[in-house]
Formats: sequence, C-alpha cells, structure tokens
Amino acid sequence: MDCPEAQSTKPEAPTASIDARTWYVDLRYMGAAEYLATGVLRLPGGGLALVDPGPTTALEGLKAGLSARGYALDDVRALLLTHIHLDHAGATGTVAQGRPDLDVYVHATGAPHVADPSRLLKSARRLYGDQMDALWGEVLPVPEDRVHAVEDGVTLALGSAAAARRLRVAHTPGHATHHVSYLDEASGTAFVGDTAGQRTSGLDYVLPVTPPPDVDREAWLDSLETLRRMEPERLFCTHFGPHEDPGAHLDQMEARLRAWAEDVRDGLERKEETDETLAAAFDEEKIAEVARHVPEARRTPYENFGRPRESWHGLARYWRTREEA
Ligand SMILES: [Zn+2]
Repeated sequence: MDCPEAQSTKPEAPTASIDARTWYVDLRYMGAAEYLATGVLRLPGGGLALVDPGPTTALEGLKAGLSARGYALDDVRALLLTHIHLDHAGATGTVAQGRPDLDVYVHATGAPHVADPSRLLKSARRLYGDQMDALWGEVLPVPEDRVHAVEDGVTLALGSAAAARRLRVAHTPGHATHHVSYLDEASGTAFVGDTAGQRTSGLDYVLPVTPPPDVDREAWLDSLETLRRMEPERLFCTHFGPHEDPGAHLDQMEARLRAWAEDVRDGLERKEETDETLAAAFDEEKIAEVARHVPEARRTPYENFGRPRESWHGLARYWRTREEA
C-alpha cells in the first residue's frame, strides 16, 4: 500500500445514517475521506455493535465518529469482523482491552489470530516493512474467551434477548479464505467487507481488491452468488459505504473480477515480461479506467489504497498456485 502522509489535525469523522438504528463512520484513515467505513448498529437494550473497527491508526477517527452521535468506545458490546486484514480489524484488541463485556465475532480460521496476532504480524511485517507501525499502529491480542468463531449459516442475536438484533453470517471467501459477510435482518444491509470490492457510495465504479496471498477466483465468484442469494436490500462495503443497487453492483463486480483475472492470466502466458513490468502496466491501465469513471475530487481512495498493482500480484499468485496443483 502507498502511504499518504498522516495528517496531524484533530480528526473529523463524519457519520451517515442507513436507518434509525444503523449508521456508519468515515474513519478518515490517513486523512483520506471515503476510504474506510465502520458500520455501527444500535443494539436493543443498549450498546453498539461495530462492523470492522479499522486499524489502531484510525482509532481517533472511530472515537470522533461515535462521539458525534453521543457514544463512546465503552458503549461497544460487539465487534463483527469481516476478516482480519489490518485495515479492517487491526484495532480489535485495542478496543477490546479493559472491556470484559465486549465480544468479538470472526470466522473460525481467523479466530486464533485475533487471540494471538503474533503470526499475522510477522507476515504483515514482511509485506509492509518499516511502514508497519505508521500504517497500522498497535495490534493487541483479545482474551480467548471473548473471541467467538462464526460459521456459514449461523444467525447471531445481539442485544437483549427479547428483541435481539439478528445478523445472518455467510462465509464469503475469495478476497481472504476466512472472509465472512453479515446480513443485518432489521435493516436489510449486508456488510460484505471486501467481497464486493471497493466502491464509494454514490459512485458507480466497482474496483476489485485482490491482493496476495489468499485470492481465489472460483471461491470469490461463488461468494458473489452467495450474496445474491441473501437478497439484501443494500450492500455495505468497508471501502466505502452503502449501495442501494445490490444486483447491479454484484454484476459489475463479477464482470470486472473475471476480466481482471483474464488480463493477468494473458500477461503471464506471454512469459517475456517480468512481474514488475506486467504489474505496472496493469496498474496504469486500471487506474486510467478509474479516472474515466470517477470524478477527480473523489479519486483519492481509489488511487492511494488497494492499488491494482497489488491486485495483479494477488491474481498472478492465484494462477501460479493453480498451475502447480
Ligand atoms: Zn480492505
């Protein structure tokens, strides 16, 4: 990931409503608007559940966004993680610290890494090197008895039992093997993490985000079908925000994921170019496409994060792993 300079000004973290009990915070990660969103669900009986709390480096933004609506971190009862990548879940342990009534939900494969992030951090450090701390900040463990492994098909009931808020869990691998999505039955919102790519609310351009090491094209296409079958009223992408046209969004995501995977495979088959050259050409072409569809004032999150260059490497790894197998 490219690292835009962090801004030292006091964080402003705008919020927007989905319905009376559901809203989201723009974490203003690294000062960038419309890149990282945390979903917020008000629970019956009091307290909040958060979907993807973001990294510790955006924690001030999260606090500012909660406080704008009269809440604080102490009101958080549950963290629902779509997956454990640090941009989505890095702050989990920091938020959970000293809050024994807070529960963390994550896919079974991700759960051990939430309780003990040491292996996750080791591999992240290989990727991010000395940028690691500036990008993500501290990543703390969560006491094991607070970490709840979720599986495909279960329904979580959060808040006071009589009127609990129900969230249906679907396993949606592809971006990561342990990725899950949560359908909030009350609002009809499917919180899909990175499964439906990156698309800023109000814009019509979906960018697949396919970085190494887990990308699985077939699993991902199945997951898009899983999301269709959930029949959500809207999709909520961590990058960034709600989309009221789930069918059209998923169709665009599917078409672009297929096209990107084919582009990368075609490049690999030519064999005469290096990975770096292929990735750079892919990146240039895809960012030019973004520029044709996204107004300049709203391009920053597409250009500064989740670059197609990294996505090229993720898809190249996918094809090579398949070939070996
Ligand atoms: Zn992400």
